[in-house]
Amino acid sequence: MNPSEDVLAALRELRAGDLPTHGGRTLAYVYDSGLSEVDSLGAAAHALASSANGLDPTAFPSLLRMENDLVAAAASLLGDVPGVVGSVTSGGTESCLLAVLAARDAHPAVAAPSIVLPTTAHAAFHKAAHLFGLRRIDVPVDPVTFRADPAAMAAAIDDSTVLVVASAPSYAHGVLDPVPEIAAAALERGVRMHVDACIGGWVLPYFARLGADVPPFDFRVPGVTSISVDLHKYAYCPKGTSVLLHASAELRRTHYFASAAWPGYTMLNTTIQSTRSGGPLAAAWAVVHHLGSDGYLKLASAAREATSRIRSGLEELPGLRVLGDPVSTLIAFAGDGDGFDLFTVADEMKARGWYVQPQFAHLTSPANLHLTVTAANHGSEKEFLTDLAASLDAARAAGPVVVDPAVAEFVAALDPATLTSEQFAGLLAAAGLGGASGLPERMAPINALLATAPAPLRERLLLEFLGALYTP
Ligand SMILES: *Cc1c(COP(=O)(O)O)cnc(C)c1O
Repeated sequence: MNPSEDVLAALRELRAGDLPTHGGRTLAYVYDSGLSEVDSLGAAAHALASSANGLDPTAFPSLLRMENDLVAAAASLLGDVPGVVGSVTSGGTESCLLAVLAARDAHPAVAAPSIVLPTTAHAAFHKAAHLFGLRRIDVPVDPVTFRADPAAMAAAIDDSTVLVVASAPSYAHGVLDPVPEIAAAALERGVRMHVDACIGGWVLPYFARLGADVPPFDFRVPGVTSISVDLHKYAYCPKGTSVLLHASAELRRTHYFASAAWPGYTMLNTTIQSTRSGGPLAAAWAVVHHLGSDGYLKLASAAREATSRIRSGLEELPGLRVLGDPVSTLIAFAGDGDGFDLFTVADEMKARGWYVQPQFAHLTSPANLHLTVTAANHGSEKEFLTDLAASLDAARAAGPVVVDPAVAEFVAALDPATLTSEQFAGLLAAAGLGGASGLPERMAPINALLATAPAPLRERLLLEFLGALYTP
C-alpha cells in the first residue's frame, strides 16, 4: 500500500498543473466566492454525505430533506410562485436534458417532435435533441443584440413543437432573451417554455435587489413552465449540482423514470443518474444555508461591480468592443480586426497568468473572448485591465495570425464523413494538436486554423483530439 500522505502529495502535484480555481484569474469554468470558509464548509459537508445514495430517498432521508430545501430555495428566488417543484441534478446540462425529455414525453402522440431554440441557446439543448431524437429548429437571433427574436420564435412554433427555449442570460454573450414575449407565444400555442437560467438564475434576482434593471424572466412570467439554475455557478457551490424547476408537479412527471420490469429493486429515478452521491447535494445545501440571502447579495454586489469596471475598461481600449448589452456577469468582446489576432490576446493573457475563453465566430457572432466574472474578480479589475492592454499591445506587435491559404482551402474542402482515423491523425499533427503531451503553449495558430474549418469538421477534429487525449 502507498501511504495516504504520499498519495495526497502526488495528487497535489498533479493539481498544481491545472488552471487556478481561486483568485479570479481563470475567467471561465470556475466560480470563486473569494471566501475560504465557503470552500472548507462545502468540502466538509461533501465528506459527510458522499457515501450516501440518492437512489433511495427512504433509505437516506437526509438527502431527501436537503434536496427539498434546495428546490424550495431556488423556487423562492425565481418568482416565489406556489406549486413549483423540481429536482437537484448533477449540472446544467442534465437539467436542460431533463426539461427536454419531460417535454417530449408529455406528447407521445407527436410523431417527429421538435424544439424551438434561439441560435444562441446553450449546446446542452443540441445534446438533448441528439440524445432524445428531437428535431432542432434553430431560430436566428437579432444580429446586433444577440437576443432571441420573439416574432421569429413565435413563427417557428408548429404542431410538432414540444418545447420553446430562451436564455437568462445566454452563455456566449451574457444577454437576456425577451422571455415574456416568447413565453406568451408558447402559451398561446399550448407549448412548454423553458428558461435556461443555468448561469444567471442565482445572480440576476440579486442584481434586481441591488437596483439593476432586470427584465422579468422567472415563474412570474405567464407561460414559463420550467427553469434551470446551476448551484455550481453563481451559488458558489462545489461542482456537481444544478436545479431543474417545473411550474407544477404535473409538468415534472414525464422526466421521472421507473422500471419494475426486472428482478432487482424497482428502479425509481428523478434524474438521469441512478446511484447519486449525496456529496455534491450536501455541499450545496451547506453553502446555500451558510451564505443565505445576505451573503449572496454581497457576492452579487462584488461580481456586479467587477463586471461593470471590467466592461468600462474594455470599452476604453481601442480595438476592442463588447458584444451586445450583457446584463449579468458575462462579457464577450471582439476585436476590430485591425492588425491583430484576438486569440493571440488570449495567449498573451495566459502568459500573464489569466485564462480568458476563446469563442469561434458563429453566424453573426464574430470570434471573441468570453469572461465569466465572479465575486473574486472584485479588487483586481485594474490589474486585469492593465494586463489586457499589455496583451493587446503584444498581439499588435505580433501581427495577425496568417493561415496558409492553401492549407485553409484544403481544410475547408474536407468531408468529415469520409475521413479515416489515420487522415485525422495527420490533420491533427498538421494543426499542432498531434502531441501526446497535450496542448502547446500558444493556441492562436491552432485556433486560427480551426476557425477555417466548417463546424462539423471542427467537431470531428476536436473529438479525434479528445480521443487521443483520453488514451491512457
Ligand atoms: C453552464 C451552462 C449550461 C450547462 O451547464 P453545465 O453545468 O456545464 O452542464 C447550460 N446553459 C447555460 C446558459 C449555461 O451557462
